[in-house]
Amino acid sequence: MRDFFMTDEDRSFRSEIRDFLARELAPVADAIERDQDWEAVKRVVRALGQAGYMKLMFSDLYAGNLSKPGLTHAAMLSEEAAYLNYAFETTIATALSCAFPLHAFARPEIRERYLTPILEGDAIGSICMTEPNVGSDSAGMETRVRFDQQTREWVIDGFKRYISNATKSDVYIVWGISDPDVAPQKGMTAIAVPATTPGISFPRTYDFMGRRGCVVGEVTFDNVRVPEENLLGEENSGFRIMLSAFNFERVILGGSGLGVARSAFDIARDHAQSRVSFGQKLGQKQLIWDMIAEMSWRIDAAELLTYRAAKMYDSGLDGKDLMREAGQCKLVASETAVFCSDRTVQILGGDGVTRQYGRAEQIYRDARALPIVGGSSEMAKYLIAAREMPTLKPNL
Ligand SMILES: Cc1cc2nc3c(=O)[nH]c(=O)nc-3n(C[C@H](O)[C@H](O)[C@H](O)COP(=O)(O)OP(=O)(O)OC[C@H]3O[C@@H](n4cnc5c(N)ncnc54)[C@H](O)[C@@H]3O)c2cc1C
Repeated sequence: MRDFFMTDEDRSFRSEIRDFLARELAPVADAIERDQDWEAVKRVVRALGQAGYMKLMFSDLYAGNLSKPGLTHAAMLSEEAAYLNYAFETTIATALSCAFPLHAFARPEIRERYLTPILEGDAIGSICMTEPNVGSDSAGMETRVRFDQQTREWVIDGFKRYISNATKSDVYIVWGISDPDVAPQKGMTAIAVPATTPGISFPRTYDFMGRRGCVVGEVTFDNVRVPEENLLGEENSGFRIMLSAFNFERVILGGSGLGVARSAFDIARDHAQSRVSFGQKLGQKQLIWDMIAEMSWRIDAAELLTYRAAKMYDSGLDGKDLMREAGQCKLVASETAVFCSDRTVQILGGDGVTRQYGRAEQIYRDARALPIVGGSSEMAKYLIAAREMPTLKPNL
């Protein structure tokens, strides 16, 4: 049994979600890629929300047929969605990354106002960390958050870029420095900002090589004011909120990378078994045999690491206890997606770089963002090594 670490319930969930996505996502996957059809993305998000699948991560809110929903099932949802269309999957992964801090840290009225519509598929969310001068080094952000004692409002000024779902979201979780006189780890605050708040603008969206159909852009905050209750957690606790969201995001990204890698591999394997070259099936040639074997073991490694981390989370481990495992699964799954998409193009030859012959070229373009988003491969390596050598401070 290949997935020996899954329960019968896990397996039946995978088959249920696969059927659901074959019905709802597969028929519009081409339109999402070709026409960047946002309405199609929204329709599938709504269908997922209405079926309850966006709540899998939040077992206290989930009311479906699983006795133990959790990150294992959310990662499976990511994997199966990314298998069909990675752009679509990034939209829901980002909405879930916004839902996570709302669920854990928002005041009840804010939670009710923004979390429920996201999880029911009626709203979209974004998380805003990255800035023009700050990406991997998120502690160095320049956005400012201050509390206006007179009006009892939070005031935000800053410029965020590479924000997934920008212009489409209903709510933005924004991180900024609230106390510049202390280390950012102790002086950062996270605020929920509704999209309709005066002072928010969207200078541009990006034209990416892949992930076509999801929207990523810049968001500026110019004297943006929101009520006191929009604070997440406590003032100056934003860095801790950011770290707690990272483990969750990395495991979801493990599922994304795995789905992208598997979709490439299936194309390569079919081609190697059907294409004839020099009088024999391509797959009989030793050099191709080698590529198939290497893709296969890398995918299994990514799968084992992703679901190990997801199962650890579901059994109650998080924070520092999960950092190494979450970092490993994100690193291996995203690098595997890049590796498999590259070898698949090679095995397909001309068909691999041509739009007319299937999805290999699309998957190749899509996969490349994976080792960059949600913390780069280099950052994941620092994280892993830091857990292995806790007495040494990494020289970032
Ligand atoms: C498609 C897409 C969607 C995104 N969505 C979001 C989003 O929704 N919200 C959000 O906040 N951000 C988002 N991002 C931003 C993403 O998280 C950043 O791109 C990522 O963290 C890297 O930051 P950077 O691009 O500024 O690169 P940099 O931090 O400038 O790094 C450039 C390169 O240098 C490497 N590097 C940096 N520092 C070191 C070091 N000390 N040692 C060795 N190598 C180093 C990095 O690994 C990377 O390879 C998105 C990005 C993309 C491409």
